[in-house]
Amino acid sequence: MEALLKLSHIKYSYHTLQGEIPAILDVSFHVDPGEFLAIVGPSGCGKSTLLSIIARMLEPEDGTILVHNPNGSLSYPKMGYMLQKDHLLPFRLGPEINHTLTKEREEKLLMYLEKYGLLKFKDYKPHELSGGMRQRAALVRTLALDPEVLLLDEPFSALDYQTRLSVADDIGKIIKEEGKTAILVTHDLSEAISLSDRIVILSKRPATVSKIMDIHLTKDPSEPLSSRKAKEFPMYFDLLWKELNQ
Ligand code: ADP
Ligand code: MG
Repeated sequence: MEALLKLSHIKYSYHTLQGEIPAILDVSFHVDPGEFLAIVGPSGCGKSTLLSIIARMLEPEDGTILVHNPNGSLSYPKMGYMLQKDHLLPFRLGPEINHTLTKEREEKLLMYLEKYGLLKFKDYKPHELSGGMRQRAALVRTLALDPEVLLLDEPFSALDYQTRLSVADDIGKIIKEEGKTAILVTHDLSEAISLSDRIVILSKRPATVSKIMDIHLTKDPSEPLSSRKAKEFPMYFDLLWKELNQ
């Protein structure tokens, strides 16, 4: 299988009045189609910068991103972005902002709202929804734009701990079910282990890749939060912790 995205020797610096801030020194990894990839690393190491580069909102000063789209097209995969804040105004904002609320998209949005139990909240204002519900709605809105890759930048960090556990679990399931490729940036090691197929561990700023780890968990699908209860979970946590604290 060819990688959907292949990042090679990405480098990026911010240029400020105070001088140059090297954010990313040399980062290479690939993302397979359908894969859930997590990126972890110390705060300020360049994770969000890297995601912006993948989203092509920032141009790397060095390095390349090669694309191999399994659908045969040579174009860059369509990206959907989901952030910490849900940026949810009315529910339908996503498609409208993109000027693409076609009949088809509207139907898709309604289909997702229905499928994920949000249809009855369709006309609610965001403040009338719980934090977890808002993140679900934000995901559904992003999905309705039919992205090939979902970019998630600390999407759960504004939620309280308990909500965070179940919403992360929930959103992980939705992404898997929809067969989307996802790249999740997080500083929460448990979240990375429980959600992803592979974890890229970044060094402190300027970022390099310190390790890439495959995750295989034995889950009991009938259990809620089954990933976190898997017997391999503590071993991965330990490995990650050591890698980040050496
Ligand atoms: P992370 O998401 O891992 O916390 P970021 O990618 O946001 O890190 O930032 C990496 C580094 O680049 C940080 O030291 C941050 O202060 C700096 N940085 C981020 N954005 C800018 C900017 N617009 N201008 C200057 N420096 C920035
Ligand atoms: Mg960040």
